[in-house]
Amino acid sequence: MTPANPRKAIEDAIYAGDLPGLLQTSGMLHGHFCPFSALGVKAGARAVRDLGVRKSTGMEEVIAIVETNSCFSDGVQITTGCTFGNNALIYRDFGKTAFTLARRSGDGIRISVLADRVKAERTPETNELWEKVVVQRRGSDAERDRLNELWRDLSFRTLDLPDDEVFEARQVKVEVPSYARIFASVQCSVCGESIMEPRARIKDGKPVCIPCSGQAYYHLAGDGIAVIPR
Ligand SMILES: [Zn+2]
Ligand SMILES: [Zn+2]
Repeated sequence: MTPANPRKAIEDAIYAGDLPGLLQTSGMLHGHFCPFSALGVKAGARAVRDLGVRKSTGMEEVIAIVETNSCFSDGVQITTGCTFGNNALIYRDFGKTAFTLARRSGDGIRISVLADRVKAERTPETNELWEKVVVQRRGSDAERDRLNELWRDLSFRTLDLPDDEVFEARQVKVEVPSYARIFASVQCSVCGESIMEPRARIKDGKPVCIPCSGQAYYHLAGDGIAVIPR
């Protein structure tokens, strides 16, 4: 029978200190190995351990506040179990490689990455391929494969760097939002799709969804949160 707690293996790996195993799992979500997702894994595991979190089920027992939508945050989501989809993840669009894990009491730990120390680990070949494949998006398949190998090696090495050299960690007090409310659904009178009630707009006296209303909306993409005017 399937156990009811799918996160058990992840918690066990965290308390056993199995960071390579966690990075492997993170890679399944993230799609590649890279130093910043490795740092997210390392930081997330550290915060879970420091706060002594056990048996969390992604039901807002703990919340994570991430300050970047970069690779780092996927490592944080895998290890903390606070995700985009379970309401336990708060995104602040600060562009900082940092995150906070907090209990409902507000006791938390904020970990920020000392980026220069991490960058110093890259070899000239990695930098060159990064520029070509990722920044300019014009590398060959062979160059992309080579970068993925170099990144894999660098990522697993990053896990071994002493925490004090790559992180600044401090205890913080967090104002934890109340549990996410469960809203009723209403039906859009134009397209017929179901909408969470607070997102419904009124047009000609009838509920409509935001796309059918023609109103501006928030949008989170690679560049961060933006308002899309209409
Ligand atoms: Zn990445
Ligand atoms: Zn609609």
